[in-house]
Amino acid sequence: MFKKRSIFSFCRSLGRGLLDLLYPPLLICPVCGGSFPKYYGKLRICADCLKRLPIITPPLCEVCSRPVRGDESSPCAECRREPRFYRRGKAVFLYTGMMREILHAAKYDFRPELATAIGTLLAVGVEDIPFYDKIDLIIPVPLHPAKVKSRGYNQAELIAAPVAVSLRKPLQIQTLVRNKLTRSQSKCGRAERKKNIANAFTVIDGQAVAGKKILLIDDIATTGYTLSECARMLLLAGAKEVNVLTAAIGVLEENWRT
Ligand SMILES: [Zn+2]
Ligand SMILES: [Zn+2]
Repeated sequence: MFKKRSIFSFCRSLGRGLLDLLYPPLLICPVCGGSFPKYYGKLRICADCLKRLPIITPPLCEVCSRPVRGDESSPCAECRREPRFYRRGKAVFLYTGMMREILHAAKYDFRPELATAIGTLLAVGVEDIPFYDKIDLIIPVPLHPAKVKSRGYNQAELIAAPVAVSLRKPLQIQTLVRNKLTRSQSKCGRAERKKNIANAFTVIDGQAVAGKKILLIDDIATTGYTLSECARMLLLAGAKEVNVLTAAIGVLEENWRT
């Protein structure tokens, strides 16, 4: 026998479900603040803002997915100059224009909802790509605990969460830690960046990564030093392979202070 209360709550849920079908609930776009109807799976950015984002188009470097000029061969000049410890890097957007503003705000203006929304873009970008079926686990690039405390969150972790849901892979945030409080890489020149990030990370649970194919996630790849250093430590701890996924990738070398 159903109790009166459970029948009431069943009818209420049914009514709400029917209403949602007739009038889909509107979502709020964290970029422009406007409301929009759900239009593509898990995406949490409106179609107008999405159109304005600098999506990467081929030809691309086969190693880091940085766009290469028509006459340039792959791997790109960056990858030829400096081999990386990760096998393959994928970025979805260029680190320029509105994407640059969004990622900057997600990092420095306490806008965690922007990082999550960017994560939904990545989640949609990689879903149904067979390459990612072979991944065993997902690890976001960690921040130093002092930075997490002052920022309130790790944006890489917020970006990685929807990707983990989409790919149905475990998200591990305790395995790789940052034990060195480094200067922001964006404040360093190219030569300094490498030195700044060296030995900044530690794998505290080798068993968790041993023999695993790992997808490392971060907001931006510029020189790739931070991602490569994380990959190096994961491989040293026994990981089988490390691949990288970032929301954006820097393109113009002139942007990096030397
Ligand atoms: Zn919008
Ligand atoms: Zn490259």
